[in-house]
Amino acid sequence: MTAQANVDPQEIAKFEALASRWWDRNSEFRPLHEINPLRANWIDEHSPVADSQLLDVGCGGGLLAEAMAQRGASVTGIDMGEAPLAVARIHQLESGVEVDYRQSTAEDLAAELPGHFDIVCCLEMLEHVPDPAAVVAACAELARPGASLYFSTINRNPKAFAFAIVGAEYILKLLPAGTHEYRKFIKPSELAAWLRAAGLELTGMTGLTYNPITRRYRLNPRDVDVNYMVRAIKPEQAA
Ligand code: SAH
Repeated sequence: MTAQANVDPQEIAKFEALASRWWDRNSEFRPLHEINPLRANWIDEHSPVADSQLLDVGCGGGLLAEAMAQRGASVTGIDMGEAPLAVARIHQLESGVEVDYRQSTAEDLAAELPGHFDIVCCLEMLEHVPDPAAVVAACAELARPGASLYFSTINRNPKAFAFAIVGAEYILKLLPAGTHEYRKFIKPSELAAWLRAAGLELTGMTGLTYNPITRRYRLNPRDVDVNYMVRAIKPEQAA
């Protein structure tokens, strides 16, 4: 890791402290468990993952990485947290899937494996790093020409503040207080600009909405006000 790595140690520490509960559906990670099948399907539907080389950036305990490996992808998962990676490595033994987990930033891996991956995913991570645009650029470098990329994060507006912080952390207590910082949330227009700057083409977007009555998440392309995912491609020819 370089001296000026694009990593916030306080953010890593938050996830290290919770890591042992990563695979407990009734823990702080419940929301990730709930959205996991939705996002795995969305990705697989648009970019069939079987037999692809897939990278999961900020993989944590490996929820998405395992789901993708189960669907036949050859998966590399990177994270800067040691405890989440340790949990991920143990859990894959239980699941019987194989993922190559490494402690690395996207930037460092991009120097080692440029143009290597068919699919690059970076979910629920950009809002935890000091310079998210640099992560997007590193993901673009890691992708081969023609590859698909997936990013998810939280929008920044009063409704997102009300739902993602007040609602999720203080009222429903789905997440520990302090999990998210409002000023690090990312507007779709900002993410779109970073994708463009990295030479990527935005190809689609969907919201992930939570209904507190039914306690269910669903994909909703018409509501990207709070949680949302985007997909992009790296053009075959540099523009
Ligand atoms: N992507 C996973 C986990 C999201 S939690 C999922 O959606 O299921 C965010 C993860 O990003 C944590 O595991 C944290 O350790 C990791 N992280 C934060 N900053 C990072 C960085 N700069 N490089 C790599 N991983 C990082």
